[in-house]
Amino acid sequence: MNVNEAKKLVMNGLDLQQINSGVYSGEWMAAEGRKAIESICPIDGQALGSVTQGKDKDYENVITAAEKAFKEWSALPAPRRGEIVGEIGAELLKNKELLGMLVTLEIGKTVSEGAGEIQEAIDIASFAMGLSRQLYGLTIASERPEHRLMEQWHPLGIIGVITSFNFPAAVWAWNALIAAVVGNVTVWKPSSSALLTAVAVSRIANRVVERNGLPPIFFLTCGSGRTVGDLLVNDKRVPLISFTGSTAVGLSVAKQTAARFGKSILELGGNNCAVVTAEADIDLAVKGVAFGAMATAGQRCTSTRRVLVHSSIYDDFSAKLKDVYSRVNIGNPLDPSVIVGPLVDKNAVDDYTATIRQSVNQGGRLIHGGQVMEMNGCFVSPAIIEMNRQEGIVLKETFAPILFIMKYETLEEAVQIHNAVPQGLSSAIFSTDIRETEYFISHAGSDCGIVNVNTSTAGAEIGGAFGGEKETGGGRESGSDAWKYYARRQTVTVNYGNDIPLSQGVVFPV
Ligand code: NAD
Repeated sequence: MNVNEAKKLVMNGLDLQQINSGVYSGEWMAAEGRKAIESICPIDGQALGSVTQGKDKDYENVITAAEKAFKEWSALPAPRRGEIVGEIGAELLKNKELLGMLVTLEIGKTVSEGAGEIQEAIDIASFAMGLSRQLYGLTIASERPEHRLMEQWHPLGIIGVITSFNFPAAVWAWNALIAAVVGNVTVWKPSSSALLTAVAVSRIANRVVERNGLPPIFFLTCGSGRTVGDLLVNDKRVPLISFTGSTAVGLSVAKQTAARFGKSILELGGNNCAVVTAEADIDLAVKGVAFGAMATAGQRCTSTRRVLVHSSIYDDFSAKLKDVYSRVNIGNPLDPSVIVGPLVDKNAVDDYTATIRQSVNQGGRLIHGGQVMEMNGCFVSPAIIEMNRQEGIVLKETFAPILFIMKYETLEEAVQIHNAVPQGLSSAIFSTDIRETEYFISHAGSDCGIVNVNTSTAGAEIGGAFGGEKETGGGRESGSDAWKYYARRQTVTVNYGNDIPLSQGVVFPV
């Protein structure tokens, strides 16, 4: 399908207009008199549509409506909230193809990845629905006679969700749908590169809540980070900010939120590494590394950015990797044979070229790719750069398909190099030797939040908790018990006796 046909199909199918309102406070703010931001399609560099931004007053309307909606939503039994979230999953499924294509048009993911993005939101909806019947607290043996000690989890209130461009629907779903079953309402500030997806997804989710006779709970405030983002981050009425984005912005968000004693979940940059040992199944490792480095044109937080290869297989591995790279189809991501679509915008292309230049200046050898393609849009060829040492530019995350390849001699040395970067999101080892793989996943091995054996650093499932250590921020979202971040823990002591025995044997003879 060509880009114009896809644009027509998606804009009509999802009822997106030329100018859409970007603020939802239970009703969509009027677009007149508001500044609109264009959503530029990175495939052809042309505008796809526009979304209006709110002003301070519009933000206030959103928060007032959110406070009111929270009272009603939090009073519903959690399993009822879960049923509604389950219905949202069903609506997303009905619209999966169109929404996936919108993700492709707005940020350039391949059609398969665009559909996968929406599938992730659908999966989270089913996970959250099940979770709504499993929001367990503990009962603890009390040291006092005729006492019960237990803990329970209450919703926090309004959750601020600030998202990055590269997972424009899934990251919202990780946060908003889990937060919703816990009893919270959310105010979403999406990336300005993916506003139409945010409008489309918010409409679908709120329609479901409304048809259940409830006030909408998924609020939206499109606008720049410095205006809307700042308002949300500094607002005491928003007890938790879940921020997904770069480490630099995340640090500033964390400081501001902490300064008002708010909580934050930080999902920040990664510098993910795969270790390929002498005992690896080389063909499998080549596939895993190629997918990790090139999927989403290297614009996943979990993209493989470094690969450490044992010296005994280095030449074989790098020859096979280069062969795979030379066969990938780069171009219009609507074409199912294309594996590498465009970067999100011109700035990303500039970052890509600057990083390649700096790597070469710092002693790197470009062994594959590295060119900006002569095409409309933001296309580049995935690059492989050989480095003798891990320093300088290799320590930074560049959000583009650039893979640094390095040699190592012992697994201990590989782990030391692997961990010697400021970020700690995802990691992988490719080996068929259980002693090597167990060492890598042990406390002495990878220091990341996510560790993979014989599979890529990218492509996490929703069932596990997602997040990373060090400058990745330490947050956890999505599966496992990540729901606890969206709740306040309350320890309850109940005395059902006729006396007041004190803990720690303290006496108070009154
Ligand atoms: P970004 O930091 O530029 O923007 C992220 C969001 O923050 C956007 O919505 C932006 O408008 C907003 N923002 C900007 N300035 C702000 C401010 N002062 N106050 C509040 N909000 C502000 O990131 P990006 O380019 O959209 O995304 C790429 C980055 O996100 C990469 O570093 C990637 O690794 C990271 N990321 C991390 C994860 C994870 O789970 N660890 C997932 C996806 C992306």
